[in-house]
Amino acid sequence: MQNRWDDQEAASFEGDLQLRVYTSRLLGRDTTLVLHGGGNTSVKLTARDIFGEPQDLLYVKGSGWDLEHIDVPGFPPVRMDHLLRLAQLPALSDPQMVNELKTHTIDAGAPTPSVEAILHAILPYKYVDHTHADAVIAVTNTPDGLAHVKRIFGDTVVIIPYIMPGFDLARLCAQEFARQRNANTLGMVLMNHGIFSFGETARESYERMITLVSRAEAYLKQHQAWDIPALQVNTASTTLRHDIADFRRRIAKQIGYPVILQTCQDNHAMQFIQRPDLASISQQGPATPDHVIRTKRLPLLGRDLQAYAAQYQDYFDTLAPQAKDPKTMLDPLPRVILDAEFGLCTVGRTAKDAQIVQDIYRHTMDIIQRADMLGGYQALPARDIFDVEYWDLEQAKLRKAGNPPMFSGEVVLITGAASGIGKACVDAFLQRGAAVVGIDIDPAITTLKSHPAYHGLVCDVTDVTAMETVLEQTVRRFGGLDMLVLNAGIFPGGQHIAELDLEEWHKVQAINLNANLNWMQACHPLLKLAPKGGRVVIMGSKNVAAPGQGAAAYSAAKAALTQLMRIAAMEWASDHIRINALHPDAVFDTGIWSDDVLAARAQHYGMSVEEYKQRNLLKVSITSADVAALTAELCGPLFAKTTAAQIPIDGGDIRVI
Ligand code: ZN
Repeated sequence: MQNRWDDQEAASFEGDLQLRVYTSRLLGRDTTLVLHGGGNTSVKLTARDIFGEPQDLLYVKGSGWDLEHIDVPGFPPVRMDHLLRLAQLPALSDPQMVNELKTHTIDAGAPTPSVEAILHAILPYKYVDHTHADAVIAVTNTPDGLAHVKRIFGDTVVIIPYIMPGFDLARLCAQEFARQRNANTLGMVLMNHGIFSFGETARESYERMITLVSRAEAYLKQHQAWDIPALQVNTASTTLRHDIADFRRRIAKQIGYPVILQTCQDNHAMQFIQRPDLASISQQGPATPDHVIRTKRLPLLGRDLQAYAAQYQDYFDTLAPQAKDPKTMLDPLPRVILDAEFGLCTVGRTAKDAQIVQDIYRHTMDIIQRADMLGGYQALPARDIFDVEYWDLEQAKLRKAGNPPMFSGEVVLITGAASGIGKACVDAFLQRGAAVVGIDIDPAITTLKSHPAYHGLVCDVTDVTAMETVLEQTVRRFGGLDMLVLNAGIFPGGQHIAELDLEEWHKVQAINLNANLNWMQACHPLLKLAPKGGRVVIMGSKNVAAPGQGAAAYSAAKAALTQLMRIAAMEWASDHIRINALHPDAVFDTGIWSDDVLAARAQHYGMSVEEYKQRNLLKVSITSADVAALTAELCGPLFAKTTAAQIPIDGGDIRVI
């Protein structure tokens, strides 16, 4: 376990609260300590109120922040006297507790304090750090967990038996801390949950965390329970995309909405999935209550969704026989699927959710295997898992979540996405909640966006082998393909028919026409499996209706592409695929139109640049973003009953009208 404290780096953080920010980030940088919003930290400070009187405050991590990126506003200040009084109450429901925490911060704009705030308050140290360290969880999730913990830490930690996070846990910790604390105490281990460390300075508390977790790691190593044996892994090199997309469609059918299904066939995942004892070790339960909400209780083995739903119903019926309305609480959607062929699959309403589940499960696989080597992995009893899964605070969060965005759980592929209209389309679809695969011949495509729902791939649209790879990667990464935007194209310089170079002509047809036919053919089987029906938009041109001299190759290709769209609309309607065309004109904020070119064209017509840009009936400028927004909307519910439409976006052109 690496101690990441750096004097030079620390020097740029001034004061107690800033240093709290710094060491919280250090914890956050180590994914074996905290993952995706897990863990929390605090510092106790005295500040003057508006009357100039001193008041003791607990600055504790607020909800919605993760330690890696936390900053001062991520620590709501809560009144210490109130927290300590709350800790004395014989009972307090979790919603009541949250209410007290929210109403006793001194900053009206602060986020909701962590549900572990009272626990932080009762520990009599200035700094308190809490993580769900993998090594500690691996050790405690074994039949002899308690004996291991005692052997590792001796009397340096207070040990708390498992109890669900919330008020009761805080009370139990207060009692046990008072009873077990001694001169050597450095921290507190919460069985099947995590670990606390504390100190008088930010550095002391942080370094104690590193020391304690390192001891757990060293213990695992000593007991040959650290290195995970590498198995001979067989990974399928065959095409999986149609099977994966079909499976995703079945998931969507069962739950009623599309989802992102991420699959991984790498060594780390496959060696776990190919273990002969997978059926027993993977079906014990999650490693810590912190993971339950994301990963659900158990992964699905194989692809039998009905059996999983039935198993879930049994689980629910057994543990909540009196539930009034189980339908509102029951969620039979597996979040993790372990399949011999597809590998580690994770499900989410967004690509980010699916990615988070994947990250968590990768740690879970390591924890399970290390615990197994130490004497057997043993998760919490089903009752405890159920209590977290159906915790009223989590249910309240689910109820509060608003409507998902338009393309939540859906996947779009956009060609020619590195610049101009294609690039704007990437933004338009991301904004509407889609997962986006952008392809382009320009290598800039790979770094166009840093977003969990974006995947950029370099691809020449005329290269059929590269196309196969792109489609395979698209589906393995996001689960399927719902929408296709055929935007890539070239606009060669003016050439009259008399001088038309045949080689040039063929090149334009290859990119602007033939390549689109290839993509339509290759995507058709995937679009057919789109849970809400497939949608295609082709980027036509004003030139289809109103061609210009010197643009024969371009105009002929766009006209043929439009005709192709009309025929596809007829042939694919029975597959629930809609296909429409946009005919933009005079979109000047693209790469082709440099300031010089614009100035030259304007001069040619005897106009100013502004006049030239707005030479249409409505006298408006048309931007890439305008075209992109319409492209996205064409795939949305507003146009659900429209196919084979050709829509001009040109500000009104007398020749088109
Ligand atoms: Zn915790």
